[in-house]
Amino acid sequence: LWSKDSQCNFAVLGAEEVGKTALVVRFLTKKFLSEYSHCTSFCYERNVSVNDKILPVRITDTSGKDSYTSLKSKGLLEGADGYLIVYSVTDKRSFVKARELLKLLKEDFGEEGQTPVALIGNKDDLVHYRAVCSAEGQRVALFYPGCLFYECSAAREAQNVETAFQKFLGQVVTSKEQR
Ligand code: GDP
Repeated sequence: LWSKDSQCNFAVLGAEEVGKTALVVRFLTKKFLSEYSHCTSFCYERNVSVNDKILPVRITDTSGKDSYTSLKSKGLLEGADGYLIVYSVTDKRSFVKARELLKLLKEDFGEEGQTPVALIGNKDDLVHYRAVCSAEGQRVALFYPGCLFYECSAAREAQNVETAFQKFLGQVVTSKEQR
């Protein structure tokens, strides 16, 4: 089951402090952990249920300190079957960064449109601090062909994060099958 072929390998990208780690931890453990330290990129390998099938998944949780170019040159994006771009709906700068990342991904993969990308606006529990509206997120997602868009919160119940990750992983599985 653990062959490289069946493994779904995706990278989580975005600015610092937007909740990339919190989302991954929420998806894998169903918990919101507020106490963890991480400043470098980290890789998780787990078996996850996707569309009622157990799949080996490899998630590279990248550090927001690294640019897309430096992540690539460090080899951290090698073999990625998909990309999850995260920004915080409370942080306009992180949204601008997400938009830049989508553009770069489009330059690298957009023509074929075969590498699934999802855009996630995190921290939507912080309603009073919202700085980016849903429509803006939706619009920017259109930059990349077939890009999924979800708003969610790693701090709320697990279901909203689960839905976003499941839909994204479903696309990754489909695109791998078509290759
Ligand atoms: P990363 O640098 O993108 O990996 O961000 P972290 O996962 O380390 O989260 C940055 C900070 O935002 C931490 O203090 C988290 O507890 C907090 N955080 C992450 N996700 C959420 C969320 O959905 N809602 C709220 N209110 N806080 C969050």
